[in-house]
Amino acid sequence: MVPSVKKKISIVIPTYNEERNIAFLIGQINEVLMQTDYNYELIFVDDGSRDNTLNELKFNSELHRNVYYIELSRNFGKDHALKAGISMAKGDVVITMDADMQHPPEMILKMLSYWENTYDIVYTYRQNANPHAKSYQKATSKMFYKGINMLSDIKLENGTADFRLMDKKVVDQLKQIDEYEIFLRGIIKWTGYKQLGIPYTPSKRHTGEASYSFFKLLKLALRSIMTFSARPLYIVSGIGLTFSALAILYIPYVLISYVTGNAVTGWASIIATIAFFGGLQLLVLGIIGTYVGKIFMQSKNRPNYIIRSTNLTLVNNDLIGV
Ligand code: UDP
Ligand code: MG
Repeated sequence: MVPSVKKKISIVIPTYNEERNIAFLIGQINEVLMQTDYNYELIFVDDGSRDNTLNELKFNSELHRNVYYIELSRNFGKDHALKAGISMAKGDVVITMDADMQHPPEMILKMLSYWENTYDIVYTYRQNANPHAKSYQKATSKMFYKGINMLSDIKLENGTADFRLMDKKVVDQLKQIDEYEIFLRGIIKWTGYKQLGIPYTPSKRHTGEASYSFFKLLKLALRSIMTFSARPLYIVSGIGLTFSALAILYIPYVLISYVTGNAVTGWASIIATIAFFGGLQLLVLGIIGTYVGKIFMQSKNRPNYIIRSTNLTLVNNDLIGV
């Protein structure tokens, strides 16, 4: 009889100051996956934590033979930490989730059953407004999804989370994408394939505090949109064109007023117009400048992350990753 080969799941978990959540999360995931017939590995990516997260990860990786850690050389941000973990995952399927128990582990079973039924990507989005979120978090989240849907070609459900399953073929494509800044939620939607979004209700953070302040969230939202789409440039070009057309229509009126001697000195209107167009020009320049900056950064070809240490086997150039 040919022994049946078990399919392998890689679960990638970014961690930033999560010392008290790791052991608990491992226990919860074990409880869920023990009931199944899959092999699984947990790949924790320590994104430059300042607490005892790394030691906790090392300790747990000695305790469980399927727990691995990747230590990044500093804090590179969640998306880049995820990319580091995804790049080193060897499973037939990769699942990404947060370390703080806000992504309920039991949902993994549901995701796996959709995967077995031919979906390549199963992602989740928050069902209701997150009952545990602070009001500024809700406001920035709403603004962000409105913004990204308006300003790019993809459509993301409100509250799309980094809790998702991806087939190996999607992961292999992701590994090829070499962008200086990555916005995974957008890129994954962009890849196409057979995708399914399922709603989930976020649980409360197990311990600790969410690490994103209002300004960090706002910056992240703007950066994600501009990283992902060039549409803001087209929109400001459109605004420029509209105002130019209006100005052309206005010139005959000015000329006629001058010739007929009806031109009146209008200080207030001149100042208002100058201020308005001055502001508009600066805004447009700022947007163009941001994109130029992104081209500049991309042209340097710096890696997305640097690995300081890991207990995974490295191949070739794995220590730095695009
Ligand atoms: N995280 C990370 N790097 C960061 C910030 C957060 O790897 O710079 C991880 C964090 O440890 C957690 C996940 O990303 O596993 C989500 O972060 P958090 O719970 O702080 O944010 P939320 O999405 O819940 O607001
Ligand atoms: Mg959280």
